[in-house]
Amino acid sequence: MRSKPEQDSLKLKLGMIYRLLLERFGHRNWWPAESPFEVCVGAILTQNTSWKNVEKAITNLKAANCLDAVSLDDISADDLATLIRPAGYFNIKAKRLKNFITRLVSHHGGSLDSMFASSLQELRIELLSINGIGKETADSMILYAANKPIFVVDAYTRRVLERHGIAGPEVDYDGIQAIFHGNLKEDVAMFNDYHAQFVAVGSSYCGRKARCSGCPVEGM
Ligand code: SF4
Repeated sequence: MRSKPEQDSLKLKLGMIYRLLLERFGHRNWWPAESPFEVCVGAILTQNTSWKNVEKAITNLKAANCLDAVSLDDISADDLATLIRPAGYFNIKAKRLKNFITRLVSHHGGSLDSMFASSLQELRIELLSINGIGKETADSMILYAANKPIFVVDAYTRRVLERHGIAGPEVDYDGIQAIFHGNLKEDVAMFNDYHAQFVAVGSSYCGRKARCSGCPVEGM
């Protein structure tokens, strides 16, 4: 439990980190997708792979006219795995995509608007009930496709927070998320961009080995 002055200083620090990242990297305009449906597919495909590989898989799905609920419901898991092969773990990801689509079709007639009509917490519970959808994937869909205010925690977020003494390695996903929810205004646009800023600083400076010299949050 943090004291009031510690809490105030944490709020300032989180706000300052965001401003410094934004100044350096500019608004990131995430998620890179043409539709909420594409966000959901991308959120599943991006597990354990780079975004470049996800883009190749999505290009294949578009070329095969398969980037919609009806087509992904119709296609066999084997054919889907072939299309998304560039994303890696393609057999597992094909099953996960099918699980998501089956839920979407069976409970919402294939409509994301219907799925997203529930409250944030109800939607999160529903997404997490789908086999193969974990917290980061569910929260990415909730924030970037459903436009509801939830902070997405990824490996970069965790790394930056640990290296700046904000969260120890023992703090779990929900604990890290609570740090943002408890200290920032609930703001979809800011949550959206803050997460993307962590991706930017993580891929440019804060990799497995920190390259702090010249990093926008050096000394914070
Ligand atoms: S590279 Fe260094 S300064 Fe930059 S976020 Fe990581 S730990 Fe912080």
